[in-house]
Amino acid sequence: MSKAPKLHNDCFALPAGVYWTPVDEALSLLEARLQTVVDNEVCEVEACDGRILAQAVMAPRSHPPCANSAVDGYVFSGGLTPGAHCLDLQGGRSAAGEAFGGVVSTGQALRILTGAALPEGADTVVLQEDVTVEDGKLYVNGPLKAGANARKAGEDVECGAELFEAGHRVQPQDIGVLISVGVAEVEVFKPLRVAIISTGAELCVPGAEVRTDKIFDANRPMLKAVLRRWGMDVVDMGIVPDNAKLVRQTLDKAAELADVILTSGGASAGDEDHMSAVLSKTGNMALWRIAVKPGRPLALGVWGGVPVFGLPGNPVAAFVCTLIFARPALLQLSGAGFLAPQALTLPAAFAKTKKAGRREYLRARLRDGAIEVFGSEGSGRVSGLSWADGLVELSDQAAEISAGQPVTFYPYSVFGL
Ligand code: AMP
Ligand code: MG
Repeated sequence: MSKAPKLHNDCFALPAGVYWTPVDEALSLLEARLQTVVDNEVCEVEACDGRILAQAVMAPRSHPPCANSAVDGYVFSGGLTPGAHCLDLQGGRSAAGEAFGGVVSTGQALRILTGAALPEGADTVVLQEDVTVEDGKLYVNGPLKAGANARKAGEDVECGAELFEAGHRVQPQDIGVLISVGVAEVEVFKPLRVAIISTGAELCVPGAEVRTDKIFDANRPMLKAVLRRWGMDVVDMGIVPDNAKLVRQTLDKAAELADVILTSGGASAGDEDHMSAVLSKTGNMALWRIAVKPGRPLALGVWGGVPVFGLPGNPVAAFVCTLIFARPALLQLSGAGFLAPQALTLPAAFAKTKKAGRREYLRARLRDGAIEVFGSEGSGRVSGLSWADGLVELSDQAAEISAGQPVTFYPYSVFGL
């Protein structure tokens, strides 16, 4: 339960010089430089949906715990050869939760219900629909394999087997598996605390009457919702105007309250881009010129030992950079490891010529088995994010995409949305 170490202030430093860092190189650098920063805690399995396991979980008992019947029928020993058979029906029965205490001898059969323990001496069950019972006798036609319609002890999970690795995010179905083998509590990572800041003198919140030269702060509520989907705790630091002193003060406060800081706006090198200016003045910022569209320079820094992701202000770029760069990094900080989203390869329903030198993410959706792209690539068109079901990824190299050609598609769901 030791507190994870703070990051070094130069952990994002990159070699000097103007160079457009390819997306994959940027991702490798992030993966190499970030580690889990959250502590552990114990969580009841019933309440652990979405939590990240801090320790591998072993099965404390087998599933099923004993051999039992898969059907309602009659149990006896060994299989049946082809042809007619007659067995003596024993008194009593074995029901789920009420096992038969006695032994079933050779040549005898016992009534058994689904989920009931197989009695000693018996290993095979015949379905009740396949027999005739008359005067204490069971008439049945073979063949029937020995062990038919029975579940062996531990055939699903052996006692002591590893069920989940550390770093696994618990899903509802996993809760079923954990409870099946009697796990009541698991060791999980505490949720990552993510401070979120919007910067820009033009930003305001809906509600009040606003001048037309002001815009609503879309990024903060949108990114907060994304972070919540990822099971993180949001520390909302509000809107900060374009003022270096206020930016510094807000970063100071955010670094005290959170494990990581996500800002949007002011991340490039303009007169009012105070986020990148403030981060570089502390000597620990790397302005990564990532060869990606949409996305202007992504400012990465460390403030008071806490990593800062300075996302572009443009909502489309902020959203895409959050999914592509911040997500794996935040997962790594959360203890889940640096997870790459699983892509689908599907035919394009569009045509496009793409120049070499940068990776492109287009707002896209799957319709009738093919990938359509949003009518405009303008990154100010925030409505395209909702039009889309996901993102199509066009490789760094030049490409001539024609309709029907396979493209890489990431449905929003693979980003945990
Ligand atoms: P910046 O990165 O600060 O230069 O902002 C780039 C563009 O995104 C500008 O048009 C901003 O007005 C806009 N923008 C910045 N932050 C936000 C935000 N939180 N919500 C909506 N638009 C924003
Ligand atoms: Mg700005």
